[in-house]
Amino acid sequence: MTGRVFLVGAGPGDPGLLTLRAAELIASADVIALDALVSGEIRSRIPPHVEILHTGKRAGAHAMPQEEINALLVAEGRKGKRVVRLKGGDPFVFGRGGEEAMALTAAGIPVEVVPGISSAIAGPAYAGIPVTHRSCATSLTIVTAHESEASTGIAWSALAASKGTLVFLMGLGNLPLVTRMLIEHGMPPQTAAAVISKATTPDQRTVTGTLETIEQAVANAQLEAPALIVVGDVVKLHEVI
Ligand code: SAH
Repeated sequence: MTGRVFLVGAGPGDPGLLTLRAAELIASADVIALDALVSGEIRSRIPPHVEILHTGKRAGAHAMPQEEINALLVAEGRKGKRVVRLKGGDPFVFGRGGEEAMALTAAGIPVEVVPGISSAIAGPAYAGIPVTHRSCATSLTIVTAHESEASTGIAWSALAASKGTLVFLMGLGNLPLVTRMLIEHGMPPQTAAAVISKATTPDQRTVTGTLETIEQAVANAQLEAPALIVVGDVVKLHEVI
């Protein structure tokens, strides 16, 4: 009997941001394959009888290569179990959920995708930064600041020319690169920027500044990963909201 694998977004950390479907699947799973980004508060909701598989990855410490994770999900699915692959944020927003869904589908294992609330939107929201705002941002671009070898390259000049909001994920280590590339490609150095660390958890911290000042401000505050970078006028609303 073939099982079913649920590719589930756990949201950015606050258990209040789990979807009803995600909470239901966590409660009824046989096996949960955990991503490093799933918060402690959400982990504590996993019933004691559920088997937990750690696939956790953190910058610098790659616990399990993606191919191995894919193979593991296929193997667990084949055992006929109810497998929940739980990922931080949304599984398809820089979460490699697409690769997992493809591997499972190719192996003939049914997959159900449960979208999650992405840190790219909820992180800024919890810091009082709306990612779009009528008078100051007509677009939102979510960018990885950590490119894979297979990447097609970041269109820095297009990003620098954008009048909208830019959200960079996986960018804490590359913050100096991000600010330098944007300025070099013509974005005004005074453009507002924020870095939000551990968003939606009790340890959330926000540092604001400009493209020119944010790197020093983040270093002074010793912010830790996971963190996201927001660039654009909407950051100014942090003071108001
Ligand atoms: N699928 C996830 C993103 C995975 S990429 C989502 O939709 O949110 C991992 C990156 O997401 C981290 O490097 C960081 O930039 C961001 N991130 C995830 N959770 C976060 C949190 N609670 N606070 C700040 N950034 C977070």
